[in-house]
Amino acid sequence: MKNVLRRNIRTLLIVFSVMFAGLAVYLTYVEFTFGERWFVTPYNPRIQQSEADVEPGSLLDRTGRKLLYTENDERVYLSDKSMRLAISHIIGDSYGMTYGAQTMFAKYLYGYDQDTISRIVGLVSGEKRRGGDVRLTIDAELCETALKALDGYNGAAVVMNYKTGEILASASSPTFDPTDMKEFLEGGGESELVNRAFAGLYPPGSTFKLITAAALIENGLGGFQTTCAGSTEIGGKTIKCTDEHGPEDLKEAIQHSCNVYFSEAAQQLGGEKLYREANQFLFNSDVMFSDIVMGESVFEKAGSDTDLGWSAIGQYHDLITPLHACMIAACIANDGAMMEPKLLESVSYGNTQTYALSTAVAARPLDDTSLLKEYMVNAVAKGTGKKAAIKGVTVGGKTGTAEIAGKDGNEEHSWFVGFIEDEAHPLAVAVVMEKAGSGGSHAAPAAKKVLQKAMELGY
Ligand SMILES: [Zn+2]
Repeated sequence: MKNVLRRNIRTLLIVFSVMFAGLAVYLTYVEFTFGERWFVTPYNPRIQQSEADVEPGSLLDRTGRKLLYTENDERVYLSDKSMRLAISHIIGDSYGMTYGAQTMFAKYLYGYDQDTISRIVGLVSGEKRRGGDVRLTIDAELCETALKALDGYNGAAVVMNYKTGEILASASSPTFDPTDMKEFLEGGGESELVNRAFAGLYPPGSTFKLITAAALIENGLGGFQTTCAGSTEIGGKTIKCTDEHGPEDLKEAIQHSCNVYFSEAAQQLGGEKLYREANQFLFNSDVMFSDIVMGESVFEKAGSDTDLGWSAIGQYHDLITPLHACMIAACIANDGAMMEPKLLESVSYGNTQTYALSTAVAARPLDDTSLLKEYMVNAVAKGTGKKAAIKGVTVGGKTGTAEIAGKDGNEEHSWFVGFIEDEAHPLAVAVVMEKAGSGGSHAAPAAKKVLQKAMELGY
């Protein structure tokens, strides 16, 4: 009798120790929580050890295309090289050197979002569990078009559905190949690993005039007028324009991207109101998005009239990420509701879906965007954004030519942000091409290519 009891206790202890081992694996699974965000580094040896118990699920694009999956215990990337390079920043690498989807969504891929009991049962039974299949909001084919549209320049392109916040495409150049990380593991190539679309901070140039315009309208200065003589003196310094634009109102100033107009209008507005408007559009905010780590865009309160003039036209110390620029265009297109950018479409275990996209409003800086929309549509129809025009749909946009100090004088980043005004194609876009020249000549036609492809694919 005693022996039987002893044997039962021993069995029980073994069961418990297995359970504790399971819990230990779970608890030592490396996780970093930052606010509501949850990071995992798959490169960590403990995670690799847990791969022995779990077959990680697949990463799919929104069309069901397999971007990363497990075959014969190996993780396999999309075989189409051109597409693989276009999505590499979104997917990330297996070494945890980038914050791609395999890091951001590791808890699903490795099944750590399932309840503890089912995990322990899995461990006790000794059967290899399978993680969740993660479907992303991106379309890899559209990402490929976005990367090609950058035409070999460093930079980024983002396309969003402005009603839902779903990121349909995101590309960052230069890129890297997650199947060939040797160079990076040896310490080189940092520039390629940065996802410029989400983390790259650029001077916004004239795309920032949209924020200045919003502040003017909000503060009863939408009727401001001036005459552009090609330059203006503010605080004893000269701010130049690309042309002598003559008499300008807000609509014409957006159409021509008139520096004189916006730097003078900002003096009427005052630094405080412009700063407040920028903050309402999520500048200077450490935003917490569930699916994405986005760099913090910067708008500093200007200390002098000259600095205020420059900051109102997107120079001075202004900085923005391409994703944020896309969100601003999306916000204007979506009647003032800025949707949180989303990358996670769904999570499924076999036929059971355990997570589905939930949309959220990230900010609501404006109650009425009808004027801004009209002025942006006008800028594409008649102004600096002409090369973004698409037959058959209404496109609105704003170009930007952001000056930066280069080795041989000033160089220019080429910008375009815009949208399609159409219920059937609720698309917003942002493109930045480093040192490519004017926004109207490079980024605008690049944005057109990406928007056209998006429509062709049914978005
Ligand atoms: Zn002008």
